[in-house]
Amino acid sequence: MNEKRMPVVFSGHGSPMLALEDNSVTRGLRIIGSQITEQFGKPKAILAVSAHWYTKGTFVQSTENPKQVYDMYGFPKALYDFKYPVKGSPELSGRVSALLGGKVSVNDDWGIDHGTWTVLCHMFPEADVPVVQLSVDGTLSPDEIYNLGKALSPLRDEGYLILASGNVVHNLRLVEWDNPDGSPQCLAFNEAITEYVRNREDDRVIAYEYVPNAGYAAPTPEHFLPLLYMPGAAEGEKPLVFNNHCELGAIAMTGYAFGLDFFMAGC
Ligand code: ZN
Repeated sequence: MNEKRMPVVFSGHGSPMLALEDNSVTRGLRIIGSQITEQFGKPKAILAVSAHWYTKGTFVQSTENPKQVYDMYGFPKALYDFKYPVKGSPELSGRVSALLGGKVSVNDDWGIDHGTWTVLCHMFPEADVPVVQLSVDGTLSPDEIYNLGKALSPLRDEGYLILASGNVVHNLRLVEWDNPDGSPQCLAFNEAITEYVRNREDDRVIAYEYVPNAGYAAPTPEHFLPLLYMPGAAEGEKPLVFNNHCELGAIAMTGYAFGLDFFMAGC
């Protein structure tokens, strides 16, 4: 096995205000980013799967200069002034097209959205690692998404980091603004999925719709599905669980890093 095989990371992103915050979640992301850099060197580029590019069909960006997309409404001006000016990577885009063949099309209509930049601005604050987004294909079954992740796994041996950004629990309709913790349903679903991921019971993660409280945790699929791109790209590897934390009643910020081996206090 290649010692320098890059990790695969899934992260929760929650409110876009994450970009401006300094809390336990942002500190967890900073540790993950700095550990990746320390153990593997900076990734050549990042393939980012974002819940906020939810499409019919699988698309990959190819431009060298992707725009930053401010795809959120009603937040303070400081958030719209926040810049995360990363380059794209036509080379990584080409590798994704080669690996997925006819299953992917190039599309540069979108850009780097808040699912990606609110997380990466903490993992790689210098914005010096190029980013290519891959859309979440809403027409695929969970099983097909898992297999797409598997097909992408060779990227890890070529110096590319695969990052997916969504939420294990994401129910905006039932958000409790003054609850710093998770509701009982939120905590139960987060714990069940985290145990399945930790134990590599991939079939149960793929069948997440049948896990108790799934209707509460993932009333729409787009924030959960990014997670399914990950385990297939990390066959046989146990994850590091980080930011295992629920907030606002109905949001889980939990993240999983495969191929990154260290102990993180408090996570
Ligand atoms: Zn989101």
